[in-house]
Amino acid sequence: MKRVVVIGSGLAGSLISNELAKDCSVTLLEAGRRERIAYPEVEFVNKDFGVVKTFCIGGGGTTNLWHNGLMALDPEDVDSGEFRDVLNEARPYLDEAAARLSFKNKKYSAEYDAVRSDMMRAVEGEIGFGDGVDCLLYPKKYRPLSVDSKVDALYGVSEIAFVHAKGCIESVRYRSGGSRHSVHVDVAIISAGTLGTPAVVEKLLSDAGQSFDRVGTGLADHPMGFMGKIKVKKYLSGVFQGLSTLDKGDYICRTALRLKSACGKYTAGVFFRPGLTMQNKLSIYKYKSMLGASKGMERIKNAFSPKLFHPDILAEIYSHLFNVNIRSRVYNILLILEQKAGSNRVS
Ligand SMILES: Cc1cc2nc3c(=O)[nH]c(=O)nc-3n(C[C@H](O)[C@H](O)[C@H](O)COP(=O)(O)OP(=O)(O)OC[C@H]3O[C@@H](n4cnc5c(N)ncnc54)[C@H](O)[C@@H]3O)c2cc1C
Repeated sequence: MKRVVVIGSGLAGSLISNELAKDCSVTLLEAGRRERIAYPEVEFVNKDFGVVKTFCIGGGGTTNLWHNGLMALDPEDVDSGEFRDVLNEARPYLDEAAARLSFKNKKYSAEYDAVRSDMMRAVEGEIGFGDGVDCLLYPKKYRPLSVDSKVDALYGVSEIAFVHAKGCIESVRYRSGGSRHSVHVDVAIISAGTLGTPAVVEKLLSDAGQSFDRVGTGLADHPMGFMGKIKVKKYLSGVFQGLSTLDKGDYICRTALRLKSACGKYTAGVFFRPGLTMQNKLSIYKYKSMLGASKGMERIKNAFSPKLFHPDILAEIYSHLFNVNIRSRVYNILLILEQKAGSNRVS
């Protein structure tokens, strides 16, 4: 039986550990504590999807914030030839991966292609917009990821180091429960997230007596924000409602128009979220984000704010939190942009 060590138990590490545990002996090393997210001055117990304010350590980093919206990366959109090859190689696994992320009953790739072509035709025909669309498919029912009991999962692990022999990793050392341990490996997988992976890769290289001074450079994030509102003509309200939310039975589809920069490349997408008024108050947008992202006592506190009775907030509650399709001609513009990969660095 092959011995595999997986470092980091976010979406990537948890999924791959569960899959490999069917045929291999898997040890999962996670820096954070089980079921906890540490954040300066705040500690969440029994974490869940959708809670913000996390420090992103502890059984999933950014995975604790995601919304389980599934969007297939189109290899044609990627500049790097190497990464394009990786994406093409991964394509045969798309349906299986989506099934593990709660996309049930249908084949994701066929469904995605069909819904995307339908939306593309609708916007070309009805709005005359020909630059294309991207769709996010949200399974209506989803569960937080958990690590299978077959996986030997260790939490609160630190000081990970690699022992090399003949150009390969022979064993992985780590500190856990106050003492040092070592595990022999055939394969080591680093899945410590955007912020955690560079440090582990640097350690791996330095333990092998090598160095590479560009590890962690060129982080490209995707800033997003509400950019204003539009009121669409009556005959267009159907197509905008479909862009905003399309109920497809087992899943919801939200569609973005793809926007090009002056360089001719796609660098932004715009989603439409229903509103009821043309008022454009920052305080309402802020409250909207807080209400959507908070839970427990925080959400109860937000629920007593007078802002709750603003028509746009009521629209948000119905459309987003309860998945009710609001019929409106007013839409908030939610813009998602590609940040240019500069000389910034995760260290
Ligand atoms: C608000 C928000 C919404 C999002 N919504 C979506 C969405 O709808 N659809 C989508 O596809 N994506 C979405 N994303 C992106 C998605 O969440 C991430 O791409 C994905 O969860 C990353 O998973 P990961 O396993 O690579 O990393 P992470 O979840 O960050 O996990 C990394 C793990 O490694 C651990 N670790 C770090 N360093 C070490 C170390 N030295 N030793 C051991 N362990 C270590 C961390 O504690 C963490 O548990 C969203 C992201 C955010 C922030």
